[in-house]
Amino acid sequence: MSTHDQRTLHLDPTLCDAHGFCAELLPELIHLDEWGYPIFTAGGLATDIPHGLTSEAKRAVTACPVGALRLTKHA
Ligand code: SF4
Repeated sequence: MSTHDQRTLHLDPTLCDAHGFCAELLPELIHLDEWGYPIFTAGGLATDIPHGLTSEAKRAVTACPVGALRLTKHA
């Protein structure tokens, strides 16, 4: 598969309300801290999505009730 559809998931912690749906839908990439806020397993506020997890990542973005998650596509 080509790399042009590689996606990155971004978290805006100022919007996140610790609902935790994202970690349920994408446990491979996100876990929750002791207060229920998401942490990307790879660290930071952006994480590359492996091709096999693209639909799960889209689902997590849609499930977030406050729009704290965003997917971008690499050019
Ligand atoms: S689903 Fe949204 S509000 Fe809930 S923990 Fe994840 S990013 Fe935060």
